[in-house]
Amino acid sequence: MMSAKPALFGHVPSFSFEFFPPKTPEGASALYDTVMKLRVFRPSFVSVTYGAGGGSRELTRSVVQDIQESGIPTVPHLTCVGHTEQELADILEGYVHAGARAVLALRGDPPRNRPYDPGRDAFRHASDLVRFIRSWEEQRGLPFRLIIGVAGFPEGHPDTRNRIREMDYLKAKLDEGADYICTQLFFDNHAFFDYRDRCRLLGIDVPIIAGIMPVTSISSMNRMAELSAGTNFPARLLKAMLRAGGDKASIERIGINYASNQCGELLDAEVDGIHFYTLNRSRATLEIYRNLGINNYFDVDRIHMLSNLYKS
Ligand SMILES: Cc1cc2nc3c(=O)[nH]c(=O)nc-3n(C[C@H](O)[C@H](O)[C@H](O)COP(=O)(O)OP(=O)(O)OC[C@H]3O[C@@H](n4cnc5c(N)ncnc54)[C@H](O)[C@@H]3O)c2cc1C
Repeated sequence: MMSAKPALFGHVPSFSFEFFPPKTPEGASALYDTVMKLRVFRPSFVSVTYGAGGGSRELTRSVVQDIQESGIPTVPHLTCVGHTEQELADILEGYVHAGARAVLALRGDPPRNRPYDPGRDAFRHASDLVRFIRSWEEQRGLPFRLIIGVAGFPEGHPDTRNRIREMDYLKAKLDEGADYICTQLFFDNHAFFDYRDRCRLLGIDVPIIAGIMPVTSISSMNRMAELSAGTNFPARLLKAMLRAGGDKASIERIGINYASNQCGELLDAEVDGIHFYTLNRSRATLEIYRNLGINNYFDVDRIHMLSNLYKS
C-alpha cells in the first residue's frame, strides 16, 4: 500500500540514519567517522536526537550544523518536555540557522534523574508542539515550509492502553500539520504492516518511515529495551541470540541477518522509508546494505525502473 503523497525527501523509499549527539571528543570523532562512511550511500536524511528537557540542546544544534555542512539533509529532533514557548522558539531558530529544513516534533519523556516541574512546560503533547512550530514558522515569515515529522508506535505507546484512542492522538499530530511519521523501532514486520493499514484506514496518508535497529550485542539489546518501551522482541530473535551462547561475533551476525531480512520484506511491501537507529556506528548498517545487494550506492531510480519492468 503506497503513500499517496509525493516524496518528501527526494526518493521513495527514503533511507535515513539516526545519530545521538556525542558527549566526548572521542564520541564526536567516532560519529564523524560513521557519517563519512554512511555518506556514500547518499542518505535521504540523517536525524539527530535531542535530550528531553534540554540536556543536549547545544550539542544537537552543533551536530546538525556540522552534518548539514557536509551536504547531508539533517533532521534535528525537538521535544517539548521541560520547555517554555520562548525556549522552543530559540531552539527552532538555532536549527534553521544551522541549515535544517525539517524537524522531528516529539513530546519527550520527563527526566528521571533530575528535578522536573511539569507546570513550567508550555505543552503536554507532541500535537501541541506541531501546532506551535507551524505558527512559529508563519510568524517568523520563513521563506520555506519546514517538513515536520512525528513519532509513531506500531506496537503501541505504553502511556495509552487504548489503541483506538492512540490512533486518534496520532491523527491529531497530522491534523496540526505534521508531514510524516517515523516509527519506534520494531522487530515484527506484521506489527508495522498492521499499523500502516490502520493509519490508511483512518485517512492518514503521509509517509510512514519504518524504524529499524539491528541488534549487535547483548548490551545494545539492553539499551534498546530501555529506550524502546512498547517494542516486542520476537521469540525467533531471542532464541537465535541464546543459541549464540554469548559469542559476540555470532550475536552481531544474527542481528544483522535478522534486520536484513526485515528490510528486504519491508522493501517488497513498498515501505515509504527505512530509518536506521545506528547508535552512532556504521558497521551493521553497511552490512545490511550489502545483504540487500545495494553495496555500491543506493540507486533508487534503478530499483524503481527494474520493479516497473517486472510489473509490466
Ligand atoms: C522516531 C522516534 C524518535 C525519538 N526521538 C527522541 C529524542 O530525540 N529525544 C527524546 O527525548 N525522546 C525521543 N523519542 C521518544 C519519545 O519522546 C517518547 O516515546 C515519548 O514518550 C512520546 O513522544 P511522542 O512524541 O510520541 O508524544 P505524544 O504524541 O504526545 O504521545 C505521548 C503519549 O501521550 C498520548 N497522547 C497524545 N495526545 C494525547 C492527548 N491529547 N490526550 C491524552 N493522551 C495523549 C499518546 O497516545 C502517547 O501515549 C523518540 C521516539 C521515536 C519513535
